[in-house]
Amino acid sequence: EGLIMLDADRKIQYMNQSCQDLFEVSGSKFIGQTISGFCDSIPMQEVVESALKGNVHTAMQELDHKKVQYFGNPILENQKIQGIIILVLDITERERTERMRKEFSANVSHELKTPLTSISGYSELIENGIATGDDVQRFAREIHKSSNRLLTLINDIIRLSELDVTTEDIMEELDICDMAANCVEMLQMSAEKHQVQLSFSGEPQMVTANRQMMDELIYNLCDNAIRYNNPGGRVDVSVYREVERVVLEVKDNGIGIPEKDQERIFERFYRVDKSRSKSTGGTGLGLAIVKHIIALHDNVKLELRSKLGEGTTIYVYFTK
Ligand code: ADP
Repeated sequence: EGLIMLDADRKIQYMNQSCQDLFEVSGSKFIGQTISGFCDSIPMQEVVESALKGNVHTAMQELDHKKVQYFGNPILENQKIQGIIILVLDITERERTERMRKEFSANVSHELKTPLTSISGYSELIENGIATGDDVQRFAREIHKSSNRLLTLINDIIRLSELDVTTEDIMEELDICDMAANCVEMLQMSAEKHQVQLSFSGEPQMVTANRQMMDELIYNLCDNAIRYNNPGGRVDVSVYREVERVVLEVKDNGIGIPEKDQERIFERFYRVDKSRSKSTGGTGLGLAIVKHIIALHDNVKLELRSKLGEGTTIYVYFTK
């Protein structure tokens, strides 16, 4: 926290290092000068003038790449104002997290509303007897589909919030090759449905990681490689060793990701093509979960290489 002390004439008596860092200045040259020589913004003036009248006051200000909050307090001695103390807090991160939290809540509400509206609508039609014959089955299918979508969404949201609060999890020695091979086997049916050829190659490779998280990570990457592919396409999963690390590679020759979206796809609910994601059962949370998992492992890193129309390769690097 930054701290500035002024005397009753608004002259700077003291400024700590954090304050100098926040304003990116050297404080020594401002000692003895009035506060307006250091910062003449309206929020700062408000705080100073209010404190000089004996009031505690707070105000916010945007600096170059930061947002700060000032707290002004009068220093009283024998009922007389001797000076003021101004506390400067860097609230950039707090504001960013708050904004992200709001965006996330808005997105969650929106995502949940769509399937719920459809469940409510179709079931009402059946209840009122408006739907007859084949319609009943058709509407029931829609209700079933929407309920499954809700379940998937809720599971992903719960998983994300679990990962949010997890600080450390049990790490163990795992054969990542064995895990990837199992996942590929499990996804064979889905690959066939998408007319994608899914293959695996690799030798046993031990890494230190959390088992459940690695299962989720491999599943999400392979599932995406299949879903964002074209009929007749390929997905090749491999595990191999490089000098100092073990690599898990998920390579597809599918639709690829435009360069401008490559960084954003790890954000919650960000999709390049929303309708394609939804029609294949996507929630927009898979890669956000992957990102969280990577962040919880100091020894695991991820690299994405993708070209629109040519395909995507994701490398997961494991070091000791
Ligand atoms: P979703 O549930 O929509 O698949 P993800 O978080 O797993 O959500 O992925 C976010 C977005 O990234 C997807 O909607 C898609 O646009 C893009 N994406 C992810 N993996 C691939 C891939 N292998 N090829 C092309 N696009 C991909």
